[in-house]
Amino acid sequence: MLNIILFGPPGSGKGTQSKKIIEKFGLIQISTGDLLRNEVMLKTELGLKARELMMTGKLVPDEIVIGMIDNKIRENPGCAGFVFDGFPRNIKQAQILDELFATRKLNIDFVISLIVNEEELIKRILQRGKEQNRFDDQNELIVKNRVKLYFSETKIVSDYYQKQDKFYSLNGENIIDEIFTDICKVIQK
Ligand code: AMP
Repeated sequence: MLNIILFGPPGSGKGTQSKKIIEKFGLIQISTGDLLRNEVMLKTELGLKARELMMTGKLVPDEIVIGMIDNKIRENPGCAGFVFDGFPRNIKQAQILDELFATRKLNIDFVISLIVNEEELIKRILQRGKEQNRFDDQNELIVKNRVKLYFSETKIVSDYYQKQDKFYSLNGENIIDEIFTDICKVIQK
């Protein structure tokens, strides 16, 4: 099995690269942001709760995203592996993912971080908001909050994986295909 976490701030290209990875290696993508946006679109109880937090650029409660991750893992027994995109976003989520995996005798193989400067991130997210009509990508203040939140709360998760010796940083400002080549080099090491 091959299990990868794509790590990095919003707008760093995790979604784009996840799609390329799952296609090449036959894996399942788990994007907590996409799962949440789907709940919002369907106007489920969870979606209504999550929408308010997402609209202000805050994280949704750990129990919600962990429940979604657990379901996705459960729904795909015997698959070739997972690519996590947008999860974990804090140490508690990272620890619980390790527990969920340990009970199934699974292992995270690589955590690949995409590095992009803040100004470029904000530009990319606002552009994506226009192109894809994503409700949480359109307001500059909220977008700035989401990027700030990554640096204040999420970036520290990199230390957790560095200690486990599975953390790799790549330049996320390269062109898409070059970044993908770099990712493949890490995976095929
Ligand atoms: P994303 O598309 O990954 O940038 O996620 C969009 C929004 O969904 C975030 O701004 C958060 O409000 C929420 N979200 C996504 N993943 C998580 C997570 N792992 N923990 C908490 N909130 C999350």
